[in-house]
Amino acid sequence: MESFFDSVLQLIVRTSTDLPPDVRAAMKTSLNAEADGTRASQALTIISQNIDLASDSEGAICQDTGMPTFEVHVPLGANQIWMRQQIREAVAEATRRGKLRPNSVDSITGKNSGDNLGPGTPIIHFDQWERREIEIKLILKGGGCENTNAQYALPVELPHLGRADRTLDGVRKCILHAVWNAQGKGCAPGAVGVCVGGDRTSGYLHAKEQLFRTLDDVNPDERLRELEASIMSTANNLDIGTMGFGGRVTLIGCKVGALNRLPASFFVSVAYDCWAFRRLGVLLDASSGSITKWLYRDPATPIIPMLDQAGFVRTGREIALEAPLSDADVRNLKVGDVVLVSGRMFTGRDAVHSHLMKHEPPVDLRGSVLYHCGPVVVKEGEKWRVTAAGPTTSIREEPYQGDIIKRYGVRAVIGKGGMGAKTLAALKEHGAVYLNAIGGAAQFYARAIKHVDDVSLLEFGTPEAMWHLTVENFPAIVTMDAHGNSLHKDVEATSGERLETLTVV
Ligand code: SF4
Repeated sequence: MESFFDSVLQLIVRTSTDLPPDVRAAMKTSLNAEADGTRASQALTIISQNIDLASDSEGAICQDTGMPTFEVHVPLGANQIWMRQQIREAVAEATRRGKLRPNSVDSITGKNSGDNLGPGTPIIHFDQWERREIEIKLILKGGGCENTNAQYALPVELPHLGRADRTLDGVRKCILHAVWNAQGKGCAPGAVGVCVGGDRTSGYLHAKEQLFRTLDDVNPDERLRELEASIMSTANNLDIGTMGFGGRVTLIGCKVGALNRLPASFFVSVAYDCWAFRRLGVLLDASSGSITKWLYRDPATPIIPMLDQAGFVRTGREIALEAPLSDADVRNLKVGDVVLVSGRMFTGRDAVHSHLMKHEPPVDLRGSVLYHCGPVVVKEGEKWRVTAAGPTTSIREEPYQGDIIKRYGVRAVIGKGGMGAKTLAALKEHGAVYLNAIGGAAQFYARAIKHVDDVSLLEFGTPEAMWHLTVENFPAIVTMDAHGNSLHKDVEATSGERLETLTVV
């Protein structure tokens, strides 16, 4: 099987850089559904531009290339040990080439393996089948959406929805609760794979397996088909919208499967995937390992660009910000303002925030812009270059952010999904703002980064290090201001009220 390694490498690169046609079509429908000039429409324009940039330049669609999960079907007698080793080596090679971000972290020490290999990563499931060819399907699902997965043990009381019983209506309530709870944190609009039943382990697995179905397929089980349609209709009336900014499209897919369960258990497991729904597959000749067919895409059909016009265009109402920022700069801003940030920006996510709680920062952060981002960075000679740099989910930094703003004088935090009450209070008290960048728009934002000036705390690994960046006209939306206002809080409250009215039986 001399071509097996190359075929797997091609599959990884294509999956990371090019969305499948069904997801592209759903995102195009989403873009067309939102009225021009709305926050959702602006966000979807950036997302669409990002999708085009990624496929044109073969760059990672999102900087979080997720947990590589392979589902492999092999003929009887195939050597699974050898194939597993080849798949692992292809993952390491794709990481070296910057198509996958190093994402495998020792859970005890926090050390990044650097090549996406380690206990449990990548995930590879083998199954035998009676066909003579090999099928490999791959999904790359990032941490932001993985963190919004949910599992319910019925019966359960749910906010805004009341009691979910052990019925299909109870299942419906659980799925809607998961979508509502995700808000923009999983980079909406997203898709959910659901398993009704199973045990805690098989339920989550089967839920994720549903994400291998195309968005436009039809569930052969009429009861589940109706459930899927009902979820789509209700979810898309919640007004959560793209990135949780409000809008008509919250969900691009709902796929439900069912497994038998123990009489005493009734689990509903929900796997949430973001708009950067990276899933592809190949069929391989079992003697050579060469690709005989792509799944989900037809290479003979040219890719139709998402945008048939210019991408993000300025309206003239954008506010230019030049870092470092002053108290007056940020107090002039209010929720809904679109800003274009230029100057110096520092990245910082989980490891940096935890570090700053116990140590002085490696740089002066007064007036600074702190970007919640774990970029994909490649070293070229002595220089670093950022190849993908979208925002990460900010809520993880909620326990630290208020203290860091207070202690070190940070004036703007950029991330996605919004932050909580403690940060909102700190923004008001110390004069700072939260800026929501468009989650997953890694290629788009990489192009706003003009220079990597330096790096601190590289011992945390490239995604977790503090990168010193020069940016130019980096667009973001003020979603939490220095006057106590939060778009996230408002959308969560109004969508919760809608959930109550829409699900009254
Ligand atoms: S699009 Fe958002 S949720 Fe999806 S992988 Fe990227 S950052 Fe994570």
